[in-house]
Amino acid sequence: MVAQAQRWVVLKFGGTSVSRRNRWDTIGRIAAKRMAEENARVLVVVSALSGVTNELLAIGNGDDIAGRVAALVDRHRSFCVELDLDPDAVLGERLAALQALAGDPRTATRPLDWQAEVLAQGELLSSTIGAAYLRTQGHDFGWCDARDWLEAVALPNQSEWAARLAVNCRRDADAGFGGRFAAQPTAMLLSQGFIARHADGGTAVLGRGGSDTSAACFGALLGAARVEIWTDVPGMFSANPREVPDARLLARLDYAEAQEIATTGAKVLHPRSIGPCREARVPMAILDTERPDLPGTRIDASAETVPGVKAISRRDGIVLVSMESIGMWQQVGFLADIFERFRRHGLSVDLIGSSETNVTISLDPSENLVTGNVLEALAADLAEVCRVKVIVPCSAITLVGRGMRSLLHRLSDIWATFGQERVHLISQSSNDLNLTFVIDEADAAGLLPQLHAELIRSGAMPVRAAGVFGPSWRELEVGRAQRRASWWVGRRGQLLARAAEGTPRYVYDLETVREHARVLTGTDAIDRCYFAIKANPHPAILRTLVTEGFGLECVSLGEIEHVFANVPGLSPQRVLFTPSFAPRHEYEAAFGHGVTVTVDNVEALQRWPEVFRGRTVWLRLDLGRGEGHHAKVKTGGVAAKFGLPLARVDAFLDAARAIDLRIGGLHAHLGSGIDDARHWHDVYAQLACLADRIGTVESIDIGGGLPVPYTPESPLFDVALWRSGLEAIKADYPRYRLVVEPGRYLVAEAGVLLLSVTQVVDKDGVRRIGADAGMNALMRPSVYDAYHGIHNLSRLGDEDTLEYDVVGPICESGDVLGFGRPLPAATAEGDVLLVADTGAYGMVMANTYNLRALPAEDVIE
Ligand SMILES: *Cc1c(COP(=O)(O)O)cnc(C)c1O
Repeated sequence: MVAQAQRWVVLKFGGTSVSRRNRWDTIGRIAAKRMAEENARVLVVVSALSGVTNELLAIGNGDDIAGRVAALVDRHRSFCVELDLDPDAVLGERLAALQALAGDPRTATRPLDWQAEVLAQGELLSSTIGAAYLRTQGHDFGWCDARDWLEAVALPNQSEWAARLAVNCRRDADAGFGGRFAAQPTAMLLSQGFIARHADGGTAVLGRGGSDTSAACFGALLGAARVEIWTDVPGMFSANPREVPDARLLARLDYAEAQEIATTGAKVLHPRSIGPCREARVPMAILDTERPDLPGTRIDASAETVPGVKAISRRDGIVLVSMESIGMWQQVGFLADIFERFRRHGLSVDLIGSSETNVTISLDPSENLVTGNVLEALAADLAEVCRVKVIVPCSAITLVGRGMRSLLHRLSDIWATFGQERVHLISQSSNDLNLTFVIDEADAAGLLPQLHAELIRSGAMPVRAAGVFGPSWRELEVGRAQRRASWWVGRRGQLLARAAEGTPRYVYDLETVREHARVLTGTDAIDRCYFAIKANPHPAILRTLVTEGFGLECVSLGEIEHVFANVPGLSPQRVLFTPSFAPRHEYEAAFGHGVTVTVDNVEALQRWPEVFRGRTVWLRLDLGRGEGHHAKVKTGGVAAKFGLPLARVDAFLDAARAIDLRIGGLHAHLGSGIDDARHWHDVYAQLACLADRIGTVESIDIGGGLPVPYTPESPLFDVALWRSGLEAIKADYPRYRLVVEPGRYLVAEAGVLLLSVTQVVDKDGVRRIGADAGMNALMRPSVYDAYHGIHNLSRLGDEDTLEYDVVGPICESGDVLGFGRPLPAATAEGDVLLVADTGAYGMVMANTYNLRALPAEDVIE
């Protein structure tokens, strides 16, 4: 006998989780574990074997009833055999019932009650097989008919179809429900999802996604300890992982957020299933049947509210209806009149935007039957009261998360990205959970990965809030690409000794520079690598890279003079000059040095013909778009000052011909920190087409911009993909020399900035660690909101238990190197802090603001 007071845990398994023998072994194992570890009783709710419901739907529609029934009988009999069960003993009665339905006189008219009975057969079969199998495996499982426990309720305005084939269940149990349910003799029970009892005593079904809802209703009625939804994915993600592999597992959500995410995107959990658990305060979990040890997604009322975007989703096929006033907006009842017309056509409205003269609404195809006919009829109807425009197809891109209003300032990059598209409608819900942008469907392609990365970068998606976000899909799928420990971990003693000579101090590891250099030189596809020295012109680094076979790319006469002064014997052929708005004499001097010069506008040729006459130059192009980790590093597109627009190429060629100027190379560098490894392949392809037209081109320079994994969660750059893209495109256009010119990638990870702690202060609950340099030594955090890892080198072994803002000594509020960084609680004055990955755009941007001294610089081998 089981004590009545024991709580229930409800486990739901979907179609793929019940279609294989090993999956049933898993179900048995999980159920037994819950029972043993939590001293709970277990109710397992299952779907039909995968594909079966679709077959039953076809039967319900009268489509080849006899053939389909025979196939279903075979399928279930052979599944019994796979499970070592006797099909006749286990399924004899059930299969007879299925066959009887096929021979029923009701097949002639196929009334709704008959269809519901047909649809119910899938779950009845799968649960019967499962219970029999689990008993043979020694589990104490009983079987119960869900129709004895879940009651359909009729709703006002419900169609007859919905009242039978898409029902809701009663959630208010009578006082005796729990006792009666618990009186069933076995410790564990198996029942069906999707089916319920109709008020007339017959069968009703819950509609698509109904099994989740059944489990939730059981959970609510039983006051269960938990409802677990077992699926074939690890949980809910911050975006659809198939579209955004860097989407993060959502470890913990509150009901409202989960509901919003389930409604606007994630298909993992049916949105209707959350309501019952939410009302009854029953926690939910989404778990992966294949990997039961993963944490999954937990949904409950106690989830602490970390404000921020939790997910981004995209719905396609959205229909926008824009209604322009014909002069009577303010009239009482006007909106009611419009919406009445939507109701008349059976359309439920999703989003609404309005102004003095226009109301625009969206229709979601998953909620509506939006065929051409329906829209035409609607438009005709609306035309009586306003001017109507239907805009299709659109995509709705939705950000979901609590507390979004307080984060609008962090969304500037998101607005900027949308700003490049035509946004038809923006809607923010007053419950502060949902911000939706509606754009043309064609523009939405490929946008989500970019937006997701921007959300993380800006801090709007607080992925470092442990407990809320889990690992990324990519990490879960391919296992975390073994990220090596950084070089400086093994050089701690040496670095502390350097720090003792004075901080702030940059230290560069030349071996790390070499390693990165060899990744790039390791392919035959690339004919020449230049190092963009503006990232770090330290003489030892320049000499190291030249020894590795690199050329040097300079953007000023100062840099040109610096490289010739510091790299003995450097051939001018290995120097490239790519200036921006430089004065005339720098071009003259560069030609004087014999280096390759890049030009990016027609005006220079027209104003200074004598400087360029008879020479050979490379032409820098703007391919019309910019890319990169921050708006300020995008160097293409109309907003950027760099490059000749494609539309001006003919004008440039004319001007060049007039002064006998030869174009020996084409160049494009569109930004920095570009994550998409295909980018450079595409740039080469575009430039090669143009080069074919020009005729004199020998070299194609596809720029730099390779990214660096600054944050712990940033994906490692897929060098192999980058390389294979270049090899493929080089094979297509072998006649050009392929040139690259990275800066950051070669040196960022090779450098660290060492600082000393000055003061540790707690102000109104915000803990701050002060360092002896901040934005004067490293501008990137204040200029680009850049992230750099910050570590207490003096206490490297200590656990990082407290969160601190790490700030510098400059009199500016923006003087913050990192917000909310976990560091040891014992951090104190005199400790050495290490700011990681600062070898690129670190020292070169340092300044003496507040008259603080520049950092020192060291290299180590
Ligand atoms: C800065 C710059 C580079 C290097 O960019 P990274 O992002 O550091 O790789 C390459 N080419 C030109 C013209 C540049 O101005």
